[in-house]
Amino acid sequence: MAGAPAVITATPEDSVHIQTTAVQTLRDHEHGAVVPPVHLSSTFELDPETESNPFAYQRGSNPTRAQLETVLAALEGSEHAFAFATGMAATAAAFSTLESGDEVLLSASVYGGTFRFIDKVFPGRRLTGRFVADLGALTDADFTEHTKMVFVETPANPTLRVTDLRRISELAHRHGALVVVDNTFMTPVLQRPLELGADVVVQSATKFLAGHSDLLAGTVATNDAGLAEAYALSQKAEGGVLSPFDAYRLIQDLKTLPLRLERQQANAIALRHFLDAREDISQVWFPGSHSEEEARIHASQASGPGAVVSFELAPGLDRVTFLRALRFPAFAVSLGGVESLICRPATMTHEAMTDQARSEAGISDQMLRLSVGIEDERDLIADLEQALVAAAR
Ligand SMILES: *Cc1c(COP(=O)(O)O)cnc(C)c1O
Repeated sequence: MAGAPAVITATPEDSVHIQTTAVQTLRDHEHGAVVPPVHLSSTFELDPETESNPFAYQRGSNPTRAQLETVLAALEGSEHAFAFATGMAATAAAFSTLESGDEVLLSASVYGGTFRFIDKVFPGRRLTGRFVADLGALTDADFTEHTKMVFVETPANPTLRVTDLRRISELAHRHGALVVVDNTFMTPVLQRPLELGADVVVQSATKFLAGHSDLLAGTVATNDAGLAEAYALSQKAEGGVLSPFDAYRLIQDLKTLPLRLERQQANAIALRHFLDAREDISQVWFPGSHSEEEARIHASQASGPGAVVSFELAPGLDRVTFLRALRFPAFAVSLGGVESLICRPATMTHEAMTDQARSEAGISDQMLRLSVGIEDERDLIADLEQALVAAAR
């Protein structure tokens, strides 16, 4: 862990289950507090003789951020974990190890902000991002001497396409390329990419990890000491770190992550079955919906489908009327919170993509992406049903 905390130690070993790890990892052994303290100090006294203190200045390290990083590493089962101010700062840290001339392979269906980074920031750094329609179909021939990274989202946002992490890791490593997985949609509760061969996991903690739509944060985890040094350097040199207050809040939020996700996922499965059975819904996307092969892969590397479902209204329905008629899911970007949200990726989360890039990625103009919350599933289904009826008029 970056700046391993002196007082707070990680207790549960890997013999316990993830809900226990989420709740029990931190104890304040100095005072016996059940909830860890928040250290707001931007600067800490140094020992006059050695002139050192691992927490000397908050950008480099901070006891509360280090506590959070301890919990994140325990949840990921990783040697190292880092907390950033946003998911994009975490992704930027993962890209910080690339050098001029390097190429990154990515799925065409990728988070819109990641697309923007590749589209707008990569050229100035003389980096190339090569989007491929299906990462699962990559072969040796797709790698060149410049290919230094494969960046994978599985399931991908918002098409929920699935990539075989074991296969892609084996393939990339044969060509000396790193595998970075954006695990935002799954979290370590449902999918653990490092155990499947990936080198790095990044997440937007803004989504499921924080889970209450009131906090931005990002995480990076790895078992590689060299990469860990680079991410610690990114925190210190580029400065996109999480504040102690937000680190504290995320520690508290993480305690209910497995619990929240269990309910959200159960609701999402119920809604998917409801949507699947409707004649006024022309298509439903969820992890594994693309093909039996993808369903098999997802089942082999993740323990559930998560809580995001995408769908399209049948041609006769009016989208605006449908969205206006909805009582519960707010029409808003973002996902993973306890409250359901619905958005239209083509014009909202993925507006940074060109029309052609969106169509290659399989993101139709009419696709709606539903992030399912913890509300009572009966209320969510009744709500969707009445909005569909209203939209047909
Ligand atoms: C939201 C999101 C991000 C970016 O996270 P921020 O916290 O908004 O910066 C990255 N990847 C995925 C898959 C996301 O959904």
